[in-house]
Amino acid sequence: MATLSPEAASDYAGIPDSFQRLWTPHRMVYIDGEGKPKDEGECPFCAIPRRDDEAGLVVHRGEHAFVVMNLFPYNPGHLLVCPYRHVARYVDTTPEETIEIAELTKQAIAALTKVSNPAGFNLGINQGDVAGAGIAMHLHQHVVPRWQGDSNFLPIVGQTKAVPQLLDDARARLAAAWEDLG
Ligand SMILES: [Zn+2]
Repeated sequence: MATLSPEAASDYAGIPDSFQRLWTPHRMVYIDGEGKPKDEGECPFCAIPRRDDEAGLVVHRGEHAFVVMNLFPYNPGHLLVCPYRHVARYVDTTPEETIEIAELTKQAIAALTKVSNPAGFNLGINQGDVAGAGIAMHLHQHVVPRWQGDSNFLPIVGQTKAVPQLLDDARARLAAAWEDLG
């Protein structure tokens, strides 16, 4: 793991925000295609909740769904809201899962606002490989903070861009902010 100097990091990513950056390519391997899971046994979104918060980069755990840092973020602070249950299609979520995914999405916006005060957000689900889902087998709702000038065009459906950042630090700060939401 190679740490970039603050100057070099800001030159690299060019995104004004409150997160420090760290290049963590080893964590992006399974999101970036080659390590794509083939069956439920390899599903990272099923495996993440079994790890502790720090190891799994879990920001918050609900009853039916949890919130995790995206390992291959569109932007710093990019969160994913996932049901614990291995389910691919939004229409197949239970009423309890549907409600909690929505509630956790609202809380994610509140926590991100406390930590880094984004100017806007992209929210959305890419359902299916053809729709741009990196891991289509397990539904996940994106919460992407946006800042003025963070990119000229950032479709929620489309190619991801690697934004190096200190994911551990961001996770800790967002988890603490979440605690304070009350
Ligand atoms: Zn799964």
